[in-house]
Amino acid sequence: MATLVSAKEMLEKARDGKYAVGQFNINNLEWTKAVLLTAEELKSPVILGVSEGAGKYMAGYKTVVGMVNGMLESLNITVPVALHLDHGSYQGALDCLDAGFSSVMFDGSHFPIDENIAKTTELVALTKKLGRSLEAEVGSIGGEEDGVIGAGECADPDECKKISDLGVTMLAAGIGNIHGAYPENWPGLSFETLEKVKAKTGDKPLVLHGGTGIPEDQIKKAISLGVAKINVNTECQWAFQKATRKYIEDGKDLKGKGFDPRKLLGPGFDAIKATVKEKIELFGSNGKA
Ligand SMILES: [Zn+2]
Repeated sequence: MATLVSAKEMLEKARDGKYAVGQFNINNLEWTKAVLLTAEELKSPVILGVSEGAGKYMAGYKTVVGMVNGMLESLNITVPVALHLDHGSYQGALDCLDAGFSSVMFDGSHFPIDENIAKTTELVALTKKLGRSLEAEVGSIGGEEDGVIGAGECADPDECKKISDLGVTMLAAGIGNIHGAYPENWPGLSFETLEKVKAKTGDKPLVLHGGTGIPEDQIKKAISLGVAKINVNTECQWAFQKATRKYIEDGKDLKGKGFDPRKLLGPGFDAIKATVKEKIELFGSNGKA
């Protein structure tokens, strides 16, 4: 039976193979099933992202672990799957490890660097003991992270080295990326920052947040420069919303049994699958499981 795995091995393979593993954030059963089935169809490793807000929405971390483990078995999922806390607080990381998540992110980017180092150090020790993976962040990612608005700053490469050297599994560094929609006048990713971070952090797998709306050529270049994990959230939400809106606007919910949630949520489910497939192929992780 398939079990959740740490993200360490899949990300090291991705780094060496010059592709990236997608982290797709989940919100409910449909989301989770859509991501898992698509990863299995494409024989791709995958990371299920859960923000603290989404964890609360899904009735708590233990509920999420139970649902995901149940699906791994019932859907016969054979590809490597990590269940990962996205932008966790220190307490959130502890709670998720306790509930059975196989990976956590501690986002200490809003703390002074010394406090970020102190808390990350503790979590490195704990996750190593448990055999789980840990993501740390340096330099806030632009846009909204569960209510916190960042400006899309670029991380300080020396601070990246300090956090990376603590022994985290993977490192998220701000390189001008933004969560959610990118503004018209967005200057693009700072490859100069990415190259400096890479030079300081050696072979540490790097994480690119805010994967929605970054042009394909920039995604590919980021992967070539050491990005091994790319987070996608908003794009699946848009796909779901667009398909659900069309279903309602076409009056399909009013015909026959169209009100049945298994029908009503069907087009949105298919749209998430299509988006995940497109991203997995763009990131190059298909066939790598
Ligand atoms: Zn993020």
